[in-house]
Amino acid sequence: MSNSPLATYKLISPNKNSPRNHAIDRVSVHCFVGQVTAKRGCEVFQPASKEASCNYVIGYDGSIGLCVEEKDRSWCTSSSANDNRAITIEVASDDKDPYSVTEKAYASLLDLLTDICERNGKKKLLWFGDKDKALSYSPRSDEMVMTVHRWFANKACPGEWLYSRHGQIAAEVTKRLGKDELDMTKEELLSCAGTGDNPSDWAKEGTEFCKEHGIFAGDGNGNYGWRQPITREAVACVIQRAIEVAKEM
Ligand SMILES: [Zn+2]
Repeated sequence: MSNSPLATYKLISPNKNSPRNHAIDRVSVHCFVGQVTAKRGCEVFQPASKEASCNYVIGYDGSIGLCVEEKDRSWCTSSSANDNRAITIEVASDDKDPYSVTEKAYASLLDLLTDICERNGKKKLLWFGDKDKALSYSPRSDEMVMTVHRWFANKACPGEWLYSRHGQIAAEVTKRLGKDELDMTKEELLSCAGTGDNPSDWAKEGTEFCKEHGIFAGDGNGNYGWRQPITREAVACVIQRAIEVAKEM
């Protein structure tokens, strides 16, 4: 089990159980209550007397600190069951309602959640907005469920600012995770460059015919992109040429 390469600071807290007793399938985002850096946040969880910790701290400046390794259970959400299966993240926030978070910290939170999901094989981050539903849900192996501290203790955590954005956070992270499924830009996907003249065997008769009659011209450098997708505008040109060829036959 790895830790996030996005963490640029590391100060491991003694407040943890090693290793965690459950596979990771939850994340719990907290408000730190104080506009600290990641370094300062990690320092706060250093004394054993604090009896608290988290896996990551995000500073107001967007810095990310590792406080408890992902393989270990942090002491963060007032619930052993939740902490054993959750990655817990403390985000620097104002010290009063609605416990607002800086733009930089919020951007780092989205990046960190995306990275955590990716490294743990998750393709979806889910927010139910309902305690009973979320806690009784059995996530599929590629799903990560968001839970909040206020479900386990009489606390406002993660504060209204972050709480009200949980749906948005889940949607944005899931969108980012989906992007990687097609590991190409639109231009790369549609370009003929470097494809040569390599149709599948079953398509050879058709591709030869189209080449012979100039219906498909390729890019002029011998690249025909036979196995590439095609745009509607290109299809329109192909239809026009095909009909012109048919008239001459
Ligand atoms: Zn909390």
